[in-house]
Amino acid sequence: MTTANSARPVAAVTGASSGIGAAVARALAAAGFHVVLGARRVDRCSAIAREIDGTAVRLDVTDPASVSAFVAAVPECRLLVNNAGGAKGLEPVAEADEDDWRWMWEANVMGTLRVTKGLLPALIASGDGHIITVTSIAALEPYDNGAGYTGAKHAQAMLHRTLRGELLGRPVRLTEIAPGMVETEFSLVRFAGDAEKAGDVYRGLTPLTAEDVAETIVFAATRPAHVNIDQIVLKPRDQASAMRAHRREG
Ligand code: NAP
Repeated sequence: MTTANSARPVAAVTGASSGIGAAVARALAAAGFHVVLGARRVDRCSAIAREIDGTAVRLDVTDPASVSAFVAAVPECRLLVNNAGGAKGLEPVAEADEDDWRWMWEANVMGTLRVTKGLLPALIASGDGHIITVTSIAALEPYDNGAGYTGAKHAQAMLHRTLRGELLGRPVRLTEIAPGMVETEFSLVRFAGDAEKAGDVYRGLTPLTAEDVAETIVFAATRPAHVNIDQIVLKPRDQASAMRAHRREG
């Protein structure tokens, strides 16, 4: 599972088996990166890796041993895209499901912490490292019934933004990408596979695509080394905030 066998800079993308991560892997490869794709559904990562001449490594960010194995497979790394994560449930705090909250905390917060800690030495050693973390507009504002997710995304964002100061003077850039609604498997996961509920989220509006987010990430990743894009917030034109969207009839 070697990645140092090409002259291309190496980018590690977590959660690369679907949605934003898969689109980012393809877009980074087109921009000249050797992409290492990590996710639990490694068969999907392998199919994309074959397509883009990348490397697939099974990764469960909630499992420290799995993260260690992933990190060991990426001895050289110029770019880390912390993308793995998501939401489970949409309930008021009064009815919060503790297992869902734990899942969201483990996947979004502890997962980002583990992978970032593991790859930081390689990113620094590269002389031009870059950490791009996909948070959300849920990291910027609360919304009703979303506290488990907004809480986790705020914590993930704080971890990321803290690094901007802690790494000052080191050759590592930090970019936070905060999207609004993107049509991926996100809502299917949130609603435990209920396709009708998931479809309702995007009903009557035009959401962002995973490719829209990937293009933005590639833009940030391909600026000159002295240019740090700190944060990009992108939303569909139809969405003004987490709780306010315009939906067309019919
Ligand atoms: P998605 O299609 O459900 O993709 C989520 C990815 O995360 C999958 O590749 C999944 O892979 C991976 N993942 C989940 N748990 C994991 C774990 N324990 N270990 C490793 N990988 C794990 O949804 P998406 O929209 O592309 O989500 C990507 C990121 O964007 C998430 O952090 C999400 O919070 C954020 N985001 C999404 C939206 C939106 O509206 N879609 C908006 C703002 C931010 P496996 O299941 O194969 O492990």
